[in-house]
Amino acid sequence: MHWLFGDQLGPHFLTRGEEGPDRDTPLLMIEARSVFRRRRFHRAKAHLVLSAMRHRAAELGDRVTYVHADTYRQGLDRAASGHPVTVHHPTSHAALGLVRALPRVSVGPARGFLVPMADFAAWADHHGGTGLRQEDFYRWVRRGHDLLMDGDQPAAGRWNLDHDNREPPPRDTAALQVGRPYRPREDEIDEEVRDDLDRWERDGDVRFVGRDGPRLFPATRAEALRALRRFVEHRLATFGPYEDAMLAADPVMSHSLLSSSLNLGLLDPAECVQQAEGAWRAGRAPLNSVEGFVRQIAGWREYVWQLYWYFGADYRRSNALGHTAPLPDWWSDLDADAVRANCLRTVLAQVRDTGWTHHIPRLMVLGSHALQRGWHPAAVTDWFHRCFVDGYDWVMVPNVVGMSQYADGGRMTTKPYTSGGAYVHRMSDLCGPCVYRPGDRTGDQACPYTAGYWAFLDRHRERLARNHRVARPVRQLDRLTDLADVRAQERARGDTPP
Ligand code: FAD
Repeated sequence: MHWLFGDQLGPHFLTRGEEGPDRDTPLLMIEARSVFRRRRFHRAKAHLVLSAMRHRAAELGDRVTYVHADTYRQGLDRAASGHPVTVHHPTSHAALGLVRALPRVSVGPARGFLVPMADFAAWADHHGGTGLRQEDFYRWVRRGHDLLMDGDQPAAGRWNLDHDNREPPPRDTAALQVGRPYRPREDEIDEEVRDDLDRWERDGDVRFVGRDGPRLFPATRAEALRALRRFVEHRLATFGPYEDAMLAADPVMSHSLLSSSLNLGLLDPAECVQQAEGAWRAGRAPLNSVEGFVRQIAGWREYVWQLYWYFGADYRRSNALGHTAPLPDWWSDLDADAVRANCLRTVLAQVRDTGWTHHIPRLMVLGSHALQRGWHPAAVTDWFHRCFVDGYDWVMVPNVVGMSQYADGGRMTTKPYTSGGAYVHRMSDLCGPCVYRPGDRTGDQACPYTAGYWAFLDRHRERLARNHRVARPVRQLDRLTDLADVRAQERARGDTPP
């Protein structure tokens, strides 16, 4: 028997290859209720994952035994009854520990990523294991996979076209003029999942957070392929320039919305980057957009996956800044209506309503606020994991512990990602209607991000003064005549929603 986890749903998990199942190997899928009992997930996420698993089981028909069990171990005992089982390398330390501890289960290599873990470990060791940089890794992957290359040179002679990207949003419109993203249509399997979730909640067995509207993300391979095609044909061309911009009325802009499909294993990253490169070679999308998208997948996604394993299971407990504050209830409950700061209110509402928001709101609105408030990085990681449709342990731990909360003290990034309101103002239309003013540090209209930024630098000034990327603003602290007021104001703010 071959066991498929709920994030191993695409055809590339069933091809023979190294340790893959034969064409007629019986398959096993286990829906373990304890997973949903352990954590308070976003309902849209629970719905998507269960819908995708059950759709896959329906496609595989008699070949699969689909077990509803309390735990994985119970499901396996019931279905495999002592027979040998194979499984592809799971995507979390916990799941890997479990399958390795089970008798008669043999674990094959991971699938769904471009670089084998052993190759990455060799590359990282070669680079000294510390001071690893995504840019170096990304170039290595581009070369190794012949992605956007002309011979041994990067296409058009440039590795990095960030310079042409990262524009502020157009000021004269509330929405980008770009084709709408693919949205699936629900079917009877979605209905059945929704009924089950209602019943579990009614029985008091499981609690969810967030709203469960119509399913917004693909649950099948066919839907995911349609989403990929729609993106490459109609939306990729404008991906690059506005990658980092935010518009209140257009949360998706030109983003691909493919993360949940990639992380469920419905799409293989290789096909995504190849299709994007194909669009550029056919003259259908400019290089800055295509390079930006390829960098996200072959660079960032791949890098994050590799670091999760390379840094090991203890990395999640990193807390270099010694942040220990718990998350307040309004945040945990996604109570956007309690918040007055327009950027946070808007973004938290996006998460509450869809379980998704793009990279910059995650980093520079949500993560930045958590960092400025000094919330415990493990609690912040758990919150992101539960509340996002694309959240899995492997992708959340480096993104939150490393990139967003700087809890690893700089192993993953060169500086903490946080800013005052001026950044949000420049990169969005969110500050115009806000009750706070990005330029104000103190007083009734003080922007919580601007005040929070200086208070954060102040609290960690000793450590940050040694970091050349933030040393300058740290030096500016000495010139702030109102620093004592900022401190007092931030202490008084406590846990209240900004
Ligand atoms: P696009 O902007 O269209 O990018 C294309 C693809 O690149 C994405 O689909 C994704 O697969 C990949 N990608 C880009 N950046 C990253 C990254 N840093 N890590 C992993 N993949 C990346 N991404 C997740 O898939 N799951 C998460 O749980 C997750 N948590 C995040 C938490 C924080 C605090 C931050 C700052 C980022 C997080 N990301 C996560 C990365 C990124 O925000 C999302 O992948 C992206 O917003 C998903 O939307 P999209 O598919 O439209 O992405």
